[in-house]
Parts: sequence; structure tokens; C-alpha cells
Amino acid sequence: MSIGRPRPAVEQLPAYRPGKGAAQAEAEHGIADAIKLASNENPRPPVDAVQRAIAEAASVANRYADHRATELRQTLGYWLGVGVEDVTVGCGSVGLLQQLALAYVDPGDEVVYPWRSFEVYPVYTQLAGGVAVTTRLVDDTFDMDAVAAAITPRTKLVLLANPNNPTGTAVPIARIGELLADVDDRTLVVVDEAYREFLDPALGDPVHDLLPDHRNLVVLRTFSKAHGMASLRVGYAIADPEVVRSIDKTLFPFAVNGVAQAAAIAAIGAIDQIRVAVAEIVDERDRVTGVLRAAGWRVPTPQANFIWLPLGERTDSVYLDLEKRGVVTRPFSGEGLRVTIGTPAENDRFLTTVGEIASP
Ligand SMILES: *Cc1c(COP(=O)(O)O)cnc(C)c1O
Repeated sequence: MSIGRPRPAVEQLPAYRPGKGAAQAEAEHGIADAIKLASNENPRPPVDAVQRAIAEAASVANRYADHRATELRQTLGYWLGVGVEDVTVGCGSVGLLQQLALAYVDPGDEVVYPWRSFEVYPVYTQLAGGVAVTTRLVDDTFDMDAVAAAITPRTKLVLLANPNNPTGTAVPIARIGELLADVDDRTLVVVDEAYREFLDPALGDPVHDLLPDHRNLVVLRTFSKAHGMASLRVGYAIADPEVVRSIDKTLFPFAVNGVAQAAAIAAIGAIDQIRVAVAEIVDERDRVTGVLRAAGWRVPTPQANFIWLPLGERTDSVYLDLEKRGVVTRPFSGEGLRVTIGTPAENDRFLTTVGEIASP
């Protein structure tokens, strides 16, 4: 008999597997100088203004922060050109995804998402007792007709990671608009834009293009990737005030800590500097893609800060060979390898190593 009798939904869950760290790979293989290209982190530390805000906020860490993160919401609303009541914040955008499941999914309710996609979608669906309804990817991209066909009156949430993790592909925002035109307000369509800042702006912006006409759209964004604040855990949602109020009811007290709030406000203040660093990552991503394609690899057009190598059955062996040589990536067994764009030197090391161990 199991101690304390955990819920079946919990017992059946696999433990979350974060990307392997460089130190762990070094220890396992007896090597030095490993690099981590496994978790889609920004290779640069936070900009100086953010680091200063973190240090200042640390001096009042004895006090609970503002649970509602009022100043951060105001800053976000003003910056995005939406009302403060249209914005909320959470403990990372995965915190907001969990809140959405808590707020909207009862046992038996359906959650639709294309698969393969972000790994927390099945976890939160299962924890809530919801039923996952998945659709296939076509050419490593969402099949939006299949998504539309999967939606029924029982569908509470539709989860679209755009760009998708781990394939890195994106659908035009107008295509999500077409989906919304066919979905009534009883179903929320969640566009998870964790990689928004790396996306080709020509594909559109759901906050400006879609939100004014669609009260059932929720846009999720984060400070974890482009802003280099993954460890601080702060994400935000833009949605109708009615949806924001429901999400907010499920926020556990003080989930977004004071250091994170101060850092996020400072990051918005330093956004021009952050954009320059993002542009460098985008350039590097396109360079890496070009080199791989020229060598004969098939790489779907990347729209985030990582690339996808659809290696199929070879995935685990290529992953392990890379790791033994100190290049830690993220394998999806039987499907492919996700490789985060790092510094130019790290990217060169990946390109050289993959060229040594495998051919297209
Ligand atoms: C990285 C990532 C997130 C971000 O999570 P945080 O909790 O904000 O760090 C959300 N969605 C997707 C698809 C991601 O890849």
C-alpha cells in the first residue's frame, strides 16, 4: 500500500524531467567544459538594470510582496497598450497554465492540443482530471484544420504553443484568428507565446490582431526566455477581464515574488537593450540553420531560440554521442533533438560536434 494514498492522477504522472545540466553531464561522462543547450535558456545573464533591481528588491525580502503585482500589471498594460484589467501575472507561464487548468478544467472536460508540444500540457490536463484530445503535427507544424475538428462542446481549453516547443515552427496569427471565428466563447483558446520575441513579426501579434474581437483568447508570455530571467519565474497573461478574474482566483498567495516583480519591471524599462540581444540570437539561429541545411540536414523553419532536428530512431544515439562530447541537448526519443541557440562559440561547438558524429 502506498504511503498516504496519492491520487491516481498523480501516481500515473511521470516525474518532470528538466533539461540536463552541464555539471551533471561532466560528472556522468568524466569530461570538462560541457555546454548546456537543453532548456531554451538565454545564454546571457540579465541586463545590468535587471540585476540592480534584483539586488534592491532583495533588501526587502523579509516582507511579503504585493500579491496582485499591481505595479507590474500596470507597467505591462501600459507597455502592451491594453488595460491593466486585461493583464495578469503568474509564477512563470507554466504557473499560469496550471492556473488555467485549475480554473477551467473539471473531471471529464476536454483539453485540445496538437502533439508533440509543450510537456506540461498533458501533466496539467491529467492533474485536473481532464481528457486530453490531441491532433497530429504535419511537417512538424500544427494542423489547424485538425485542431478545429477536435473541438467539441466539451472542450474547455485549446492549447497552442506558437512557436511550438519542441519543433520551433509557428503558424500565422491570422490562422489562429480563423480558428477563433469557429469557436464560441465557451471554449478558451490559449496561445502560449513563450518565444514571442524570437518570432518573425510579419506573422502577426494576437494581442493587437485578435484580442479586441475575441473574448475567449488568452495570450501567455514570459520573462524566462528572451529576457534571460528563467530562474525568477515570472510570466503574464493578456485576456478578457472576466478571464483574468477567474485565473487570479487560483493564484496561490504571493506566487510571483517581489524580486521577480521588480526584475520584470526593470526588464520592460530596458527592453531596447534586450531586443538587441534577442536579435543576435535570431541571427545565430538562422546561421546555425543555414549551416545544417547546407550540410544536408532537414531543419524545419525555426521561429524560437532553438532548432529541431527530426532524427527519428537515431535521436537517442545522436543525443548520447553529443553529450559524451560535452554538448547537452534535449532528446525526444524516437522523434528528434531540440537544440537551444547559445553563444556563437557554443553554437560552433555544436555544429562541429554534430558534423563529427553523424551525417544527415
Ligand atoms: C519555456 C516555455 C514556457 C515558459 O515557461 P516559464 O514558466 O515562463 O518559464 C512556456 N511555454 C512553452 C511552450 C515553453 O517552451
